[in-house]
Amino acid sequence: WKNAPPSLALLAQAARTFGQRTFTVYRDERVSYEANYRATAVLAEKLRALGVGKGDRVALAMRNLPEWPMAFFAIVSLGAIVVPLNAWWTGSELEYGIADSGARVLICDAGRHARLTEHYGDLPELKDVIVTRWEEPLSGRFHRLEDIVGATGDWAALPDTPFPQAEIAPDDDATIFYTSGTTGNPKGALGTHRNITTNILSSGYTSARAFLRRGEMPPDPEPRVSLLVIPLFHVTACSAGLMAAIATGSSVVFMHKWDVVEAMQIIEREKVSFTGGVPTIAWQLLEHPDRAKYDLSSLDTISYGGAPSAPDLVRKIHEEFGALPGNGWGMTETMATVTQHGGEDYLNRPTSCGPPVPVAELKILSEDGVREMPAGKTGELWAKGPMVVKGYWNKPQASAETFVDGWVRTGDIARLDEEGFCYIVDRAKDIIIRGGENIFSSEVEDVLYAHPSVTDAALIGIPHRTLGEEPAAVVHLAPGSSASEAELQQWVRDHLAAFKVPVAIRFVDTILPRNANGKIMKRDLKALFAAEAA
Ligand code: ATP
Ligand code: MG
Repeated sequence: WKNAPPSLALLAQAARTFGQRTFTVYRDERVSYEANYRATAVLAEKLRALGVGKGDRVALAMRNLPEWPMAFFAIVSLGAIVVPLNAWWTGSELEYGIADSGARVLICDAGRHARLTEHYGDLPELKDVIVTRWEEPLSGRFHRLEDIVGATGDWAALPDTPFPQAEIAPDDDATIFYTSGTTGNPKGALGTHRNITTNILSSGYTSARAFLRRGEMPPDPEPRVSLLVIPLFHVTACSAGLMAAIATGSSVVFMHKWDVVEAMQIIEREKVSFTGGVPTIAWQLLEHPDRAKYDLSSLDTISYGGAPSAPDLVRKIHEEFGALPGNGWGMTETMATVTQHGGEDYLNRPTSCGPPVPVAELKILSEDGVREMPAGKTGELWAKGPMVVKGYWNKPQASAETFVDGWVRTGDIARLDEEGFCYIVDRAKDIIIRGGENIFSSEVEDVLYAHPSVTDAALIGIPHRTLGEEPAAVVHLAPGSSASEAELQQWVRDHLAAFKVPVAIRFVDTILPRNANGKIMKRDLKALFAAEAA
């Protein structure tokens, strides 16, 4: 792979450099860099034999398993486009992803296979389906992955076969990741081999800077172990988590599904140095009553992004774990990280998501997209850099509206300070306009969070005949505590202007529903109010 694009050069160099070092850990399964490389080459050859070639889409639908990264690289090594589908999706949502991307081949785990076949029979659109961890024999268009590469424990014994030859350039299409679907239907973002690997540079840089700023040398790559708890079908886990880990020869530990107690057991057992992903995960680790029973001292970094986080999270991580806290902003359209900071920088600016990473540019435009705003002024955030994707798959109109001259229009309202640190204020779509007055939902949510009884809160707009919209809140109280609607309204009134006080507050028994990326599904909450009003 002398002239290989960055994604494949990464895999080949990691196999050569880190050979026997553990790459992935899942339960009692351990796959070395070398074994992963061998299995990837064998699967790539099988895909080629099935007719997969340049530009073809291959869907990948599975939980975080060692087979995920293996299949990912096998697909892109052919110049084909990998389409990671959300493993939380229902049968019909998975069908949407397959139809939208035009994938003819699917690689999935047993759970997704069952869900899909239940939903639409023998998957007529698909030419071939490769299933992992499926107990029964399969035939015809259906293949067991284990019959091709063996179970993960056998990968090390596979012959060292060459990869099929493919002509691929760094800016060729490689991935279609779907957006989280927080504000509308998920859109496929078409990324390249260059896009997917850009995070290696930014993560390495930001992490090194955070250690240096606290007067410490950055740790050697050797003992790094990352507990990856967010799903690989989102860009953050794949490009910021997985790719950056490969570049440093780190081990990546997967969990079947997020469970805070199991996570603490794994951190102790595997001596995990790095975890995070989304703010909720950091909170659950911090607040667990049995935390002291586990040795979590190996954790040196807890970093997250993808969703707004309460400002006191950073201080708590620093004080209670002694770990470096980190926060980053990005979106599927930017293949994860565009801004990132950690350690002192973050502690000193707890409401910022950091400056742009060295290869990115940011600007704030007036909401009509015409004027560039000076430092300190709020407007819509635009981003540019080698991580920004070409556009949406199959959506020319949405692409033309969102991608302009190499810039991506983010839909986030933000400001930059004099030093270039970015502060996300809200999503444009979450701003509630009450009779012409703008209410940033995050501002009211932060005030609600600060109430001692509140553990989770979301502000949404509910329709009003003359005002257009009014703010309403959905709140989850800490177990054993109590607060009335009137008390919380008074609390907000004590801190903010009267027009920002929620006109109604609903209490729910569980923390609010979030999608796989840790974001509150405000659409669902609005539906809850609408259903009550009807
Ligand atoms: P959809 O575009 O389908 O509605 P989505 O925007 O939630 O879904 P993603 O691409 O996963 O899909 O998320 C990107 C968004 O996540 C950003 O536009 C921003 O609103 C939010 N976000 C990301 N990082 C941060 C952060 N550090 N702080 C606050 N918000 C963040
Ligand atoms: Mg979005």
